[in-house]
Amino acid sequence: MSKHITHWIGGTPIATGGAAPRRGDIYDPATGRVQGQVDFADIAEVDQAVSAAVEAFASWRHTSLARRTQVLFAFRELLNARKDELAAIIVSEHGKVHSDALGEIARGLEVVEYACGVPQLIKGGFTEQASTGVDVYSIRQPLGVVGIISPFNFPAMVPMWFFPIAIAAGNTVVVKPSEKDPSAANFLAGLWKEAGLPDGVFNVVHGDKVAVDRLLEHPDVKSISFVGSTPIARYVYETGTRYGKRVQALGGAKNHMLVLPDADLDLAADAAVNAGFGAAGERCMAVSVLVAVDPVGDLLVEKIKERMATLRVGPGCNGDSDMGPLVTGQHRDKVTSYIDSGIADGAELAVDGRSHAIVEADAEGATTADGFWLGPTLFDHVKPGMSVYNDEIFGPVLSVVRVTTYEEGLELVNANPYGNGTAIFTNDGGAARKFQNEVEVGMVGINVPIPVPVAYYSFGGWKASLFGDTHAYGADGVHFFTRGKAVTQRWLDPSHGGLNLGFPTNS
Ligand code: NAD
Repeated sequence: MSKHITHWIGGTPIATGGAAPRRGDIYDPATGRVQGQVDFADIAEVDQAVSAAVEAFASWRHTSLARRTQVLFAFRELLNARKDELAAIIVSEHGKVHSDALGEIARGLEVVEYACGVPQLIKGGFTEQASTGVDVYSIRQPLGVVGIISPFNFPAMVPMWFFPIAIAAGNTVVVKPSEKDPSAANFLAGLWKEAGLPDGVFNVVHGDKVAVDRLLEHPDVKSISFVGSTPIARYVYETGTRYGKRVQALGGAKNHMLVLPDADLDLAADAAVNAGFGAAGERCMAVSVLVAVDPVGDLLVEKIKERMATLRVGPGCNGDSDMGPLVTGQHRDKVTSYIDSGIADGAELAVDGRSHAIVEADAEGATTADGFWLGPTLFDHVKPGMSVYNDEIFGPVLSVVRVTTYEEGLELVNANPYGNGTAIFTNDGGAARKFQNEVEVGMVGINVPIPVPVAYYSFGGWKASLFGDTHAYGADGVHFFTRGKAVTQRWLDPSHGGLNLGFPTNS
């Protein structure tokens, strides 16, 4: 039976009304079949969700930290108990393999666990006797209704970078998930309800630019947390801030992995394959450029090719698949077109993913003949200026660039307009330390290929990979979802009264 995903407003699913409801298809990328439809919100439906969130904020912001924490703990337990179900939903709409879907849920759970410590996280400071008989203290308060707009590639983890902390801090939330894999957000909404979160604190509107634009303009939406491609991130940042909102907009990436001659080449080859082709390269922290410092290029490429030949490409629900399909047919075609342009630009096609064998049926025996497949692809001798180097491909295409020195490699990384993640592979601590200091990238791995920070640090890139000044989750997340207030108090001793029109000074 075909599924129908509707908005989740005020604690319940709401189907799009009106005379001409707009909807989008939800595909199963492994079979290429349409498995259902998702409603696209119009302005009135976004307004309905924001109104529900405004109403819920009036009481949620006054709910005790003790109670909020209990709800968060209950949500954590439910999500942990039902993570396999959620992973299966993600696999069926996104296409990634089941273990990878469980991985994204685990990283989201980390943020929920971090947010369970909210009483500690939003504690203010207190200074007794700042002036004679005067105490000063700071408190952090919620913003109100916050908007979260997420991309297709992490339908559970990316919203969870934001909403656990937002809710813990006393805000109410409207999430606009990607229209390509919308069901995870509704599953999470159901868990919140079961965990005892009051209706209206967590809402989901589905759709496209219409819904996003309304969230950006709505006067009752106080902040926007966006994750997606750089052009849309820039647009969201510029539009949201024009409407006076606090905005953090995380964009695209082109992550370089620098391999020095003294590196353990087996470790580096494993890392390049795992980080280049995991989730079919549809990760903002995927390694898409491998920078090999002479003389290791030839040997490293050989080791990578050996490993690529062993990768099993097949449906995510088959336990033995290493890599699933791409998210849509259109995206697969776009990624494939980069293989054509790489060849035309003169890069050496070392492994052609178009001819990689695809497993022919999924776990239930459904044929995968029309799925959105592309095998892992490797280009060698890639140079800046080629489109495979310049563009974010967001697919299983890894480019190898040869350089002669560490300095040349560093220069290449720093010249890139993106600055999301990077990694250095070396056994030289001094070189690694120099790289960590000099590289203009927000997240750095030293012999770690996908350095996604743990929940108590913050996630975010530099340059065209992030617009705004706060990163996601960790201390930055707490800061983003609260605003500070400083209170100066004096309990008057009657002897200190009297008129004084001068500016207050401390004594
Ligand atoms: P996308 O930019 O196409 O879409 C992201 C969100 O914006 C979706 O909810 C979508 O509905 C909405 N949207 C799309 N077009 C819009 C428009 N014209 N106006 C307003 N809203 C619009 O991104 P995607 O294809 O879903 O995701 C892949 C991209 O996300 C890649 O570029 C990837 O690098 C990036 N990403 C970045 C991070 C990070 O942390 N920096 C994490 C994950 C993904």
